[in-house]
Amino acid sequence: MLVPNEYRGPEVATARTRASAVFAADGPAVSPFELIEPSALAEAVGLLDPNDSSVRAAAGCTALMLMMKAGVLKPRRLVSLRRIEPRYCAIEREPRAIRLGAQVTLAQIERSAVVRAALPAVCRTLERLANVRVRNVACIGGNLAHADPHMDLPALLIALDAGLVVHGGAGVRTLAVAELITGYMETALAGDELIAEVHIPIHATRRAVYRKVTTRSADDWPALGIAIALDMNPDGTAADARVVVSAATDRPTRLGEVEALVCGARIDDALLGRAGDAAAEQALIGDQHGSAAYKRELLRVHLRRALREAASAPPAAMTS
Ligand SMILES: Cc1cc2nc3c(=O)[nH]c(=O)nc-3n(C[C@H](O)[C@H](O)[C@H](O)COP(=O)(O)OP(=O)(O)OC[C@H]3O[C@@H](n4cnc5c(N)ncnc54)[C@H](O)[C@@H]3O)c2cc1C
Repeated sequence: MLVPNEYRGPEVATARTRASAVFAADGPAVSPFELIEPSALAEAVGLLDPNDSSVRAAAGCTALMLMMKAGVLKPRRLVSLRRIEPRYCAIEREPRAIRLGAQVTLAQIERSAVVRAALPAVCRTLERLANVRVRNVACIGGNLAHADPHMDLPALLIALDAGLVVHGGAGVRTLAVAELITGYMETALAGDELIAEVHIPIHATRRAVYRKVTTRSADDWPALGIAIALDMNPDGTAADARVVVSAATDRPTRLGEVEALVCGARIDDALLGRAGDAAAEQALIGDQHGSAAYKRELLRVHLRRALREAASAPPAAMTS
């Protein structure tokens, strides 16, 4: 960590020497920066600088540290969120949604009985996200704001219609997770805005799955991610469908043509074949996990499997 545990002062810390000492042992020292630990979210917002993108919030620091060690981020100031109000570290079951404070860790969500009962697909996705050391410190706010297109959770949260409460210099606003990520590691957040809360709606009849396709270990970064949320009619046809692909596009992307095919249809072999072929029409991007052509075939095959799994999964209300 950048700050030793014994540090308690709210003032500007002497992070310059501490940070250099931490990193000098295994590589080039990170550039000197200022570290501030406010005790309130509003104070944290005030310490950001809308005109300087090197002034960053710091949540679990798992992504920040890698960028700083690689020299691609040289922050002038980090505003640590780890001492902000406890409500931003809490998980709450509301009547129609799960509310996550931005500083809730991924491990807290994974182990939450409340989340597992209402949104089992979220917990299952987290079990294969990175490793336990990362999940123990990475926070849901930092996870979503990082906007790497390979992230597992954003696709699922888009399929689940999740929303955000964002606090900034201009006030408080709400934003759908679908509106957050605007490009490759780009978000709709202004330089002085912070994600404060994540709200995931609960639908007792919804079935959701996230399929992570990796080419190395099961918990590796995905070569392809597919998130599906289905509402089924009593007659076995799909009433509503959200289908989102990630890790093969520059941002999580809804597959509108597949959704249109699925809505109102019975999910049988013929429909699955048409849906896989329609998905494979999506323009994809290759990377170190596979070429665009390879990912296209992965998408064709795994989209069918994910749809079948979602259609046969028990609705959330029956898994609690
Ligand atoms: C070894 C390793 C393996 C990984 N594997 C996977 C994987 O398989 N799948 C996957 O999805 N992810 C994976 N990750 C990425 C991991 O999920 C992210 O690094 C983590 O979720 C980021 O959260 P954080 O709290 O550490 O964010 P930080 O590193 O603290 O911050 C990340 C970004 O978000 C900003 N930020 C932080 N909090 C807020 C806020 N409240 N409002 C606005 N902006 C904010 C920061 O300024 C920064 O720009 C892996 C990471 C590592 C290190």
